[in-house]
Amino acid sequence: MAKSKTKIDAGSKVPKPRRASGKSVRKPRWPSAYSPDEVAEIFRRFSVQRPEPKGELEHVNAFTLLVAVVLSAQATDAGVNKATRGLFAVADTPEKMLTLGEAAVAEHIRTIGLWRNKAKNVIALSQALIDNFGGEVPGDRDALVTLPGVGRKTANVVLNMSFGQPTMAVDTHILRIGNRLKLAPGKTPDEIEDKLVRIIPDEYMRHAHHWLILHGRYVCKARKPDCWNCVIADICKSPDKTSDVPAPLVPLAFEAD
Ligand code: SF4
Repeated sequence: MAKSKTKIDAGSKVPKPRRASGKSVRKPRWPSAYSPDEVAEIFRRFSVQRPEPKGELEHVNAFTLLVAVVLSAQATDAGVNKATRGLFAVADTPEKMLTLGEAAVAEHIRTIGLWRNKAKNVIALSQALIDNFGGEVPGDRDALVTLPGVGRKTANVVLNMSFGQPTMAVDTHILRIGNRLKLAPGKTPDEIEDKLVRIIPDEYMRHAHHWLILHGRYVCKARKPDCWNCVIADICKSPDKTSDVPAPLVPLAFEAD
């Protein structure tokens, strides 16, 4: 008796492997040029270098942090700090900010870009906090993004710094590092955020945002990366790198702007 054969026409594709259920087996693609072990080693080194990284925007509570982050769009942290020292000395709650009024807020922040619009937003978000959240900053992204001038990135910074949540706020430094190192390549901040959250081990997520920003600000700089001072130079897969020798892994005592 002739054996039965599965007939495959010339040019037809070889069928994909299937599960017993009949569904195609599709492994989610690992979204980084680095293996999980390499990613863990990168963040282990960052954690040794900066055990307790801090953001550089001055603030005294969740409200003043929120205002500082709103003011920091298209401005440097140092420039924002200069303006907010006087502002927060007289207004560190939504109620006091409203009492101060838009004209006085604008006067305090005139040295910052887009100050007119930002003064409007600071007053509007203070009002919204009082009207909708009992004057408290909510620890919830969906609630935060309803506030005037507050987008996903601002919400992520506040959730991370004031509420200890493992969020990833993608700024210009993280956008650059994600792509330059091929750590989490992406065209948009959301794409990079999504990939970083997937690849960074849980134990490092709390501080990962600050480690990446500080690494980008002081070492893997925009115009010329300072690879000789980089603790991950041996692991880095960037075509821009100029050294394979990692800098000594020691805790950093001080960083100047
Ligand atoms: S080796 Fe150079 S390019 Fe790579 S992360 Fe370090 S500073 Fe950036």
